[in-house]
Amino acid sequence: MMIENATNWAGNYSYGAGRLHQPKTIEQLQELVVSSNKLKALGTRHSFNDIADTSGDLVSLEHFDQILDLDREHNTVTVEAGVRYGELGRWLHEKGFALHNLASLPHISVAGACATGTHGSGDKNGNLATAVSSMEMVTADGEIIVLSREKDSEHFHSAAVGLGGLGIVTKLMLDVSPTFEMRQDLYESLPLSQLEEHFDDLFSSAYSVSLFTDWRDATFNQVWLKRKVSLGASFNPEPTLFGATLATRNLHPISSLSAENCTEQMGISGPWHERLPHFRLDFTPSSGEELQSEYLIPRQHAFKTFLAIDRLREHVAPLLQVSEVRTIAADNLWMSPCYQQDCVAIHFTWKKDWPAVKKILPIIEEELAQFNARPHWGKLFTMTPERIGSLYVKLPDFQGLLGHYDPEGKFRNSYLDKYIFGVQTDEGNFQ
Ligand SMILES: Cc1cc2nc3c(=O)[nH]c(=O)nc-3n(C[C@H](O)[C@H](O)[C@H](O)COP(=O)(O)OP(=O)(O)OC[C@H]3O[C@@H](n4cnc5c(N)ncnc54)[C@H](O)[C@@H]3O)c2cc1C
Repeated sequence: MMIENATNWAGNYSYGAGRLHQPKTIEQLQELVVSSNKLKALGTRHSFNDIADTSGDLVSLEHFDQILDLDREHNTVTVEAGVRYGELGRWLHEKGFALHNLASLPHISVAGACATGTHGSGDKNGNLATAVSSMEMVTADGEIIVLSREKDSEHFHSAAVGLGGLGIVTKLMLDVSPTFEMRQDLYESLPLSQLEEHFDDLFSSAYSVSLFTDWRDATFNQVWLKRKVSLGASFNPEPTLFGATLATRNLHPISSLSAENCTEQMGISGPWHERLPHFRLDFTPSSGEELQSEYLIPRQHAFKTFLAIDRLREHVAPLLQVSEVRTIAADNLWMSPCYQQDCVAIHFTWKKDWPAVKKILPIIEEELAQFNARPHWGKLFTMTPERIGSLYVKLPDFQGLLGHYDPEGKFRNSYLDKYIFGVQTDEGNFQ
């Protein structure tokens, strides 16, 4: 199928690929890979940059959307790569199981989310790729290979956050646990100053914690606490929390928007997959008209990071819709921004004005460089490839494995050429 005016979810990037393929079988996919010189897997298009683009053909795995097997004995589920977390969550809960975490939205594909190190929040929760225990891929020569966390440690740890570079992932096996219920309690107006002493207390006070601010003053407008609920136990949230006040109505992270799109709040308990994401599957997540950036920083620098952004408030606030702070546990995945370090993530949902956002990102990046901030692979950043290279100790090994699995560079695109191989490329089709 010819691909015309095809853009990502946010509409800020137009894919330059010539054609879009939607294979229905693994054999069709293998044939495509063998017959093509350049191609790239496409997930649900929720990345904000050119990471999923190619000068050749795009391959959507939207027909690879089956949940294949639930192994109750070993606590794993096997899914096809194009399955979205929303459908998987619903299915797992019905069968009595849960994933450890979800991103803010359930609309993204499992393979696409894992490829960029997508994460939710929670001091003890690694990013979504940390749940992967094995993955099946079609590599550049059309062969099907399986990499497992246990048996192929090195290669697996390079591939789980693989930036779409090693091959086309067709199946993933994920760790699951018994299902659980959760509740969300929100607080309003947390003074930034409270985080100097109480950052750890606050973030350890629930399974998953998010703070939201518009950076208009030194206050976090909202605190979202997502707690596990024990059946039969009653729980009354404190009326105040480090100076913030318990919310008395449902809220959208962007205060001016209706909370209709958001998952249930006000302490009403419900299944994990309807509480861990902020947004409901059947509604538009976030604001829809937006750009996003996010930086992941070693956790010990959290408070200093907030002060640094607070100092830039005059630049940040006019362009911003909302900013979110989350925590993510360390992992061993080579290209994960949380490789061997617990992180705090500071996220920015910008107004849809790329020329202006492009000017502010270097200012933020310069300010956060002292903390070794790493950008989210799937969002917008302006950091140089040299700088990114210096932040990933495993990058040379990752380059080696890309060469091993894809010697002719079929899955390489401008993004990988630039940020992984340090090759100058053009700017891409950003609007
Ligand atoms: C409204 C909104 C909210 C978001 N919230 C969060 C959040 O809470 N946390 C967070 O961390 N991020 C968040 N993101 C970013 C998003 O999770 C990532 O960009 C994610 O990678 C998108 O997944 P996708 O399926 O759309 O993949 P795409 O954007 O389509 O592709 C991303 C990468 O995955 C690769 N890929 C896709 N499928 C395969 C496959 N089968 N085999 C090999 N490679 C593959 C592509 O080649 C590409 O390199 C958000 C984005 C939006 C738009």
